Amino acid sequence: MTDSVEHVRCLIIGSGPAGYTAAIYAARADMKPLLYQGLQPGGQLTITTEVENYPGYPKGTLGPEMMEDFRMQAERFGADVRFGYATSVDFSVTPRKVIIDETKEILADTVIIATGASAKWLGLESEQRLNGFGVSACAVCDGYFFRGQDVAIVGAGDTAAEEATYLAKLCKHVYLIVRRDEMRASKAMQHRVLNTPNIEVLWDTVTKEVLGEKTVHGVRVMNNKTKETRILNVTGFFVAIGHQPNSEIFKNWLKMDETGYIITVPGSTKTDVEGVFAAGDVADKYYRQAVTAAGSGCMAALDAERYLASKGIH
Ligand code: NDP
Repeated sequence: MTDSVEHVRCLIIGSGPAGYTAAIYAARADMKPLLYQGLQPGGQLTITTEVENYPGYPKGTLGPEMMEDFRMQAERFGADVRFGYATSVDFSVTPRKVIIDETKEILADTVIIATGASAKWLGLESEQRLNGFGVSACAVCDGYFFRGQDVAIVGAGDTAAEEATYLAKLCKHVYLIVRRDEMRASKAMQHRVLNTPNIEVLWDTVTKEVLGEKTVHGVRVMNNKTKETRILNVTGFFVAIGHQPNSEIFKNWLKMDETGYIITVPGSTKTDVEGVFAAGDVADKYYRQAVTAAGSGCMAALDAERYLASKGIH
């Protein structure tokens, strides 16, 4: 059921660094982009505190503030930024059809998907309460704040292995909390973890609670086999148990890998559907950085502009 129909040249879905950067470029190219912000305006950066690795901010900045800056920059050039959530699409028609909030129909000559990914969490109350205050799902983003300190990281895949070795270079001691007696990570990554002297793997171990009132000062873990509990005296707690790309509504329309990441033509943001482009974490399980997402958002706007030109629309 739709209550109105609008036709736009460029529709951007998502409001993280990829979406806003696409909006800046598309607006400056006079494509009059319409951007829907999605459920979490500003994306994952709005749940971090300080961002120190985004070029151009020598003193660092706050994630939520940075995303406000991105939004204002896009609006300055005329991007139409709105609250709203894409609930379904029909990519069999041209222009492409996207339904917002189950009611509004947008017909778009180009669609840029920048819906991001969401980190998976353990689901502990203490983990959510201390998120951004010692709890993080990104070692590359936040590891630096814990240099010289003891930290723990949970997970056993390639991300956890990679992040544990990254943290080991900065931190004094790294506990890697693995719930089974083996890791899922590639053998090469496991080898690296096991040969890093300041990484201690806690096998068969689950996290029961993150300790601390305002910031993290420990983690209570339990050995699954012995049921023995212990407290790890750490100031940082990293969760690396995987990400979920926010690609559900595109499932039957676009080529994806087995975990739902949208597959783009290498070196571009083109999906397998003409006029539909994907940028940022929804199409990137490896880098997942604000700056790489912003870069691919720029690429998506340029790809969309070229596509419109090739069709004689713009
Ligand atoms: P994965 O899904 O591969 O691994 C998730 C890990 O988290 C698993 O070991 C899983 O344990 C563990 N886990 C899940 N839920 C919980 C929980 N509730 N409590 C404790 N542990 C839990 O995710 P990754 O992010 O590691 O990797 C995603 C993809 O990206 C993979 O294909 C990976 O190979 C790839 N990748 C490649 C890299 C590279 O090549 N350099 C770098 C990073 C990622 P269990 O094993 O028991 O299920």
